Amino acid sequence: MSFDKDLDFIKEKDLIKLQENRLRKVIHYAYDNTRLYKNKLKSVGLKPDDIKTLDDLKKIPFSSKIDIVSDPEGAVGDLNNVFKIHTTSGTSGQGETIVFFTKSDWKTYVAQNVRCLVRCGCTAKDRYYNSTPYGMFFAGQVLHDAAKELGGFIIPASTLKTGMAHLNNIFNPIFRPTVFIGLPQYFLRWGNTWKKIGKNPSDSTLKKAYVLGEPVPPSVRKKIEDLWGVDCKIGYGLSEIGAGSECEEKNGIHWPEDDVIVEVVDPKTGEVLGPNEKGELVFTTLNKTGTIAIRYKSGDESSILGRGCACGRNLVRISLIEQRLDDLTKIKATLVNPYQFESAMFNNDIRTYLCVIDKVEDSDVIRIYVDADESNNLKNKIVQSIKTHLKLSPTSVKFVENIPQIGRKGKRFIDLRKKHPMAEIVREFEAKVK
Ligand SMILES: [Zn+2]
Repeated sequence: MSFDKDLDFIKEKDLIKLQENRLRKVIHYAYDNTRLYKNKLKSVGLKPDDIKTLDDLKKIPFSSKIDIVSDPEGAVGDLNNVFKIHTTSGTSGQGETIVFFTKSDWKTYVAQNVRCLVRCGCTAKDRYYNSTPYGMFFAGQVLHDAAKELGGFIIPASTLKTGMAHLNNIFNPIFRPTVFIGLPQYFLRWGNTWKKIGKNPSDSTLKKAYVLGEPVPPSVRKKIEDLWGVDCKIGYGLSEIGAGSECEEKNGIHWPEDDVIVEVVDPKTGEVLGPNEKGELVFTTLNKTGTIAIRYKSGDESSILGRGCACGRNLVRISLIEQRLDDLTKIKATLVNPYQFESAMFNNDIRTYLCVIDKVEDSDVIRIYVDADESNNLKNKIVQSIKTHLKLSPTSVKFVENIPQIGRKGKRFIDLRKKHPMAEIVREFEAKVK
């Protein structure tokens, strides 16, 4: 098998030596082979030889999604040996990110994802229900290859037209999946659908769930575990960077530091923060020749929890992602995190909704669409929850059916005041339900 699970248990001293060796190599490589990083280093008068230790890393200017969006090939080391690309959705209105993979990059990613599955207790005996989208979205294929590498049996469901189609697969007595892989919001929604028709989700053959692609508050994890009767672990990754996952201790994401250095910085000043201090995750890929990331600002907020874990792994743990920093937005002069809406909805057992922020006659408005049964004074409860969580009142709350899926990850918060790639779909939907 082409992955080394022992890397999860590498001693700190050996890890740092390995990281520094790889860092020196990748800085030379990126300087010689990419426009982006050559320019970044030159802009502050640095030569590759100036970067020798992990501490030297902070001399290098940050890069970000904007750099890769504006010049996708500019961050690529070995364009001649790229064998495939994937794209990530332009969630924050910055456009699509194109990520280039060489064969060796792909192997690295697959190995990282095998390690993620192993940490979640998955084995060759498992039967993997992979509902993560395949195609241009990267996670579906890489997890497919990881489950294959691990020797598992794969049900490559990917995207299907309806939740019921997934449920029919999951409960198909011939398929008998034991591991669910996919987005938590869908898994939860399908479980509720099954319950609504009088059936019990925990009667399935599923034992474990590996969920990824969006923040998972503790309440959501608990609902998934209670509803489906599974052990649910959380993964985190970026297609331009790599992936990590929780272990059986569920006390943070073990990050593959041998492949990718992680730092946490103050998003405003860029100052490197210490353990347990919340800031922006910044990544440096050490093993890639396709799209390379050096001090890449992820836009995700987290903190470094430290090395060492009761599971015996020494890899650093990062706290679960609670929010994307560029999703923070001001509504009526109040700074709002979209996940506050999620909590407000969740408290009322609402899984399918759309929250639209817009400007009408120079005033911010919040229009909420909910796919639920309008009974038991639900409208008032929603308004109250939003007031409690956000100190704001929604302009309207409408009960509707058929809320469209926004983007690959099913976004439920759209700010139409900003340029947004999905704005058209939202406006069409709103015109229809007016
Ligand atoms: Zn652990």
